[in-house]
This record gives sequence, C-alpha cells and structure tokens, in this order.
Amino acid sequence: MNSCYKVRACCSTAHCDYVHHSDVIQTINHESSFSFAMMMNEWNTAGVRMKCPQCGQPMFFYPVSYIADPVTFA
Ligand SMILES: [Zn+2]
Repeated sequence: MNSCYKVRACCSTAHCDYVHHSDVIQTINHESSFSFAMMMNEWNTAGVRMKCPQCGQPMFFYPVSYIADPVTFA
C-alpha cells in the first residue's frame, strides 16, 4: 500500500557540497522509474535540462523505491 516509485535528482560532481536530493517524477513501478532515470540522464548530457544550483553541472537522475518505511532508505 505504501509502495512508491520515484525518480530523484542529485548532484554527482565530486567536491560539490550540494546534497539536496529532489523528487522529479513519480512512476507506477520500478521498471518505469529506472528507465525514466536512464532517459533523463541521456537528455541531460545532450541538452542539460536540470543543473545543480551550486556548481552548475548537470544533475544525476536515479530511481528510488519506497516499499514500506522511507526511513529504511535514508
Ligand atoms: Zn553540484
């Protein structure tokens, strides 16, 4: 019931201290959040749709699954 699949964005640049991980989109299952993350990473290298507010580098997208308690994944 509490299952929740999302794509999140964070900055993956070394030495950048921007640590905020923001939810980008919510999806119906793990497969779609995974492929969404892959797709957005490809778009980002081509067109840079989302930049880190701290260092200006493209954000990195990754899939997240909340199965029961979000605390377990913190
Ligand atoms: Zn950054």
